[in-house]
Amino acid sequence: MAGPFYFDHAATTPIRPEVGEAMAPFLGAAFGNPSSTHRWGREARAALDAARERLATCLGARADEVCFTSGGTEADNLAVIGTWRALRKGGRNAVVATTIEHKAVLAAVHQLAKEGGEERLLEVTPSGQVRAEHFDTVVRDDVAIVSVMWVNNEIGAVQDVPRLAGKAKARGVFFHTDAVQAFGKVAIDTARQPVDLLSLSGHKIGAPKGAGAMFIRRGTPIESLFHGGSQDRGRRPGTENVAFAVGLATAAECALREHDAECARLTALRDRLESAIRARVPDIVVHGVGGMRAPHILNVSAPGTDAESMLMALDLAGIAASGGSACQSGSVEPSHVLVALGVPAEIAGAAVRLSLGALTTDAAVARVAEVFPTLVAKARGFAAV
Ligand SMILES: *Cc1c(COP(=O)(O)O)cnc(C)c1O
Repeated sequence: MAGPFYFDHAATTPIRPEVGEAMAPFLGAAFGNPSSTHRWGREARAALDAARERLATCLGARADEVCFTSGGTEADNLAVIGTWRALRKGGRNAVVATTIEHKAVLAAVHQLAKEGGEERLLEVTPSGQVRAEHFDTVVRDDVAIVSVMWVNNEIGAVQDVPRLAGKAKARGVFFHTDAVQAFGKVAIDTARQPVDLLSLSGHKIGAPKGAGAMFIRRGTPIESLFHGGSQDRGRRPGTENVAFAVGLATAAECALREHDAECARLTALRDRLESAIRARVPDIVVHGVGGMRAPHILNVSAPGTDAESMLMALDLAGIAASGGSACQSGSVEPSHVLVALGVPAEIAGAAVRLSLGALTTDAAVARVAEVFPTLVAKARGFAAV
C-alpha cells in the first residue's frame, strides 16, 4: 500500500493503452495531411473519417455533427460564442449560463457581454441543481443560447440536461451542454436528448490533452472562431489532428464499453470513502449532497482546516488531490462553484476534491480513508485520533 495514489481524475486521466496504440501509426509513417489527394492523404483522410464516424456513434449522432477541437475549452468557446454571433442579428441577444459552469463557459459568456450581449446567470440550489422555475423565467425567447453543464467538475452535481434542453427547445433557444465530466458517467444519446451542442474533452476520458470534440446538431447556426481553410465544414479551420481524433474516438469507445461496470465500481468506492471519512470526521461537509451526483467526484471540507495545507499534507502522504478545479489551484480565491452554492468562505476555503477513476483501487481508497481523518485531526491541533 505504498502509493503514491492519484485522486485527481477530474483534472486529467492517464492515457489508455488502447488509445496510445491506436494513435501510434499517425505519429509515425501514416503522417499524411487529410486534405492531400495522394495516398498519404487518403490514408489520413480515411482514419479521420472513421474516427468521426466512431465518435458520432458513441453520441447517437451523425458523422457530420461531430467537430474536432483542441479540447473542452475550445469546444465550450465555439459553442457559446459561435452560436451567439450567428444568432445576434436575428434579435436573440441574451446568453444564459449557470453560475457553476467551468470557466471556459463563464469567460466566454463574459466575453459576449463585452461584445454587446446580455449576460444572464442561472442560480443553483445549495446542492448544485439548476432551479427549474428560475430557468423558466430567465430562458425567454430573446435568448440565443443557454449553457448548462451536465456534470460539474468540482462537486459532481448532475443536471437534468434532457429536461432543461427540452424546455429551451420549446422557446426556440439553442442549448449547449459541457459534457466533459459527464461522458462515460451519464447516458448520453443525442438522438433522444434534445441538446444542440455538446462539448467533450479527450484527456478526461483517457485520451491526450489537446484532443476535444463538439457535437453540433444539424441546422444549428454557428460562426467559426477561426478563419482559414475549410476543414471540418469551415467550423474549425486548420489541418486536422488525425492522431488525436483517432485517440479520442478510441477513448470514447472504451469509456462506453466499461460505462456500467465502472460507474458501479466508482460509486461503491466513493461511498465507502465518504462514509469512512464521515465516521472519523463527523462534522465533515460533503458538497453537492442532496442532489444527483456523478460517481467520480467527492468534494469535502473539514471545518477548521484549510485546503492548501490539507493538500500539502496529503501530497506528503502520497495522495494527490486538488482544491476545487485544477485551473484554479494556486489561486487564493474561493471556488466560484462553492460560492454559488452559498457555502460560507471558511468552509469553501477548506474544500478538497478527491476524484476517482482508472487508478482508484480498493487499496487507494483504504489509504485515503485512513490518512485524511488523521490529517484533519493534526490540522485542528489535536493528537491523532
Ligand atoms: C477539464 C474541463 C474543461 C476543459 O477541457 P480542456 O480539454 O482541459 O480544455 C471544460 N469543462 C469541464 C467541465 C472540465 O472538467
